[in-house]
Amino acid sequence: MANKKETLNDEEMEFIASLRGQNISSYNKRKNRPSYSVRINDKEKKQLNKFRENNKSLLDIHLSASKQPKILIFDIETAPMRAYVWGRWKQNIHLEQTISEWFALSWSAKWLNNPNIMSDVLTPSEVIIEDDKRIVKSLWKLFNEADILITHNGYKFDVPKMNSRFVLHGLNPPYPYRQIDTLTTARKEFGFSSNKLDALAGYFGIEHKSDTNFNLWVRCLQGEQEALNYMEEYNIKDVVILEEVYKKLRPWMKNHPNLGLYAENEDETCPHCGSTNVADTGTFSYTNVSKFSNVRCLDCGGIARRRTSDYPKDKRKRLVVSV
Ligand SMILES: [Zn+2]
Repeated sequence: MANKKETLNDEEMEFIASLRGQNISSYNKRKNRPSYSVRINDKEKKQLNKFRENNKSLLDIHLSASKQPKILIFDIETAPMRAYVWGRWKQNIHLEQTISEWFALSWSAKWLNNPNIMSDVLTPSEVIIEDDKRIVKSLWKLFNEADILITHNGYKFDVPKMNSRFVLHGLNPPYPYRQIDTLTTARKEFGFSSNKLDALAGYFGIEHKSDTNFNLWVRCLQGEQEALNYMEEYNIKDVVILEEVYKKLRPWMKNHPNLGLYAENEDETCPHCGSTNVADTGTFSYTNVSKFSNVRCLDCGGIARRRTSDYPKDKRKRLVVSV
């Protein structure tokens, strides 16, 4: 599928963004131009042509029809701190030993199931003056649009790290979102010998990420354009892998945000993937005071249980529970 660059005006950009389940604010205009330049695929091109023929009516239909949650998969790369140290082993580095603080080098993100990949990276001059404000702002816009964030180690790393950059750059907290962390699931539900994204991808037969070593970070800190480009590519690959790993783990996630709530479907909806292709299993989940029938999602394979009790009312009266 060859994605071709297309020049779009505001309305056309809004239309393409809506097809992708996004908002126009995810995109930036070309420098000093009133238009956007975006790669679109054949399917989007066809819909764009239709839109250009029928103009606005299609956009309105589209914007009102979709109640799917906006699920953002993202990953960041940061610059290491630099410091004066007295040795290699078990160092306690005081604040005054710090030469420079960490900052964001690049980010990559995509909306779940959407082929478009977004990313941003510092320019060499921004690296030299350690100014990540531009790319922090562009990622903030996506946070602000998202209903759910998917990361690998985002609970402990990506999200708090970005929050630090947001507050330092005077940005407000983004609108509330829920989080899914594939590292947490990998640790909690499985016994893999490594829970690194790379390793998980390997176990699942997903194409591995590219090689990096510390020298790449050194070259980036020196403002080398080629290294920064490579960092962005590496960041993008991680996001692509993360989407695949997430989909493998998704049916196993017990506390997955309930996609049925977002979609507001009439039919029973899989809480994991939002599909209405769910089937009764004839099995039950038991608590100490009740039982509930289980359903299986025929698309993602996830299991869910109905919320209304299957335990007969007349028998409930005579039920006793251990203390
Ligand atoms: Zn499902």
